[in-house]
Amino acid sequence: MAMAYILSHLELGRRVNARLDRSRNWDEGLFLLGCLGPDVFFYDRLPPPLFRRNEKKLGNAFHNMDAASFLTAAGASPRPTAHSSLRREQAPALLLTAHCPLPTAHSSYICGLLCHFALDAWVHPYIESRATGPAHSRFEALIDSRLLPGFSERDDPFAGLPPVSAAGPVDALWTDWSAALCGKKVAGVFTRSYRNFLTVAKLLFDPHGRKSAFARCLEWPFGGKGKLSGFLVWPGRADEDDCLNMGRKPWAPPWARERVSASSFEDLFDGAAEEAVSLIGRYLDGDTIANALAGRSMQRGAL
Ligand SMILES: [Zn+2]
Repeated sequence: MAMAYILSHLELGRRVNARLDRSRNWDEGLFLLGCLGPDVFFYDRLPPPLFRRNEKKLGNAFHNMDAASFLTAAGASPRPTAHSSLRREQAPALLLTAHCPLPTAHSSYICGLLCHFALDAWVHPYIESRATGPAHSRFEALIDSRLLPGFSERDDPFAGLPPVSAAGPVDALWTDWSAALCGKKVAGVFTRSYRNFLTVAKLLFDPHGRKSAFARCLEWPFGGKGKLSGFLVWPGRADEDDCLNMGRKPWAPPWARERVSASSFEDLFDGAAEEAVSLIGRYLDGDTIANALAGRSMQRGAL
């Protein structure tokens, strides 16, 4: 999951953000950071560190959890931190209602996280039906490439994301959640991974196709077509395999072959946007959203 269709996540976040109630206090930077979800941890091994372990598996762990368990229990922070300033008595309702007196920054981040959940839950079953294993990341890069055909030199798909220096409060949240749910002490790992993300994702973004052309030259002598260039996000890239399933061919997730669908990526994307708007509205109104999340994960959608 190198690229993890991260530009699609940011695009969904921007579309959802445009539909939200603008009268609320809102931190758009932390909202967009939330849209990256636990994918940020995948970048802790990019490049692979030589003298320490990486915590990529944390990203997998949060993707595989029941979302209701994660988003409920994640609030049950076992200890307060200087950054998050959460008190134990506030904690259980942290993520599922906005009644607790949370700083705006935190609720903005949680809303972004709900966007991440929605897109993953809607789209991952389709992606897994089309590409598993090493091909998964290249397929996601292809999706990002095709979703953004109108990009020009002036467009910056990462615009609005906060600088690494602003990630401290979010690092504190993930530190608490990782301790509570995974039994791991990971203070500083989110910030480290986010720094890597900003470097690697920008490196892989190829608005003019020049990096792709260079990568193809490098891989060609070794017969490794796409081994390098396949990870680059180049909006001009050909989609010979109809990665967005515009032809609406039937597909089913590998773990539930009976769940056949003919939805295209764009159908799923639109469905995720609708659900994200609904979840965020209810969360900010203080309604419980546990029922809507129960039995679903970011990795598989319906468990
Ligand atoms: Zn994800």
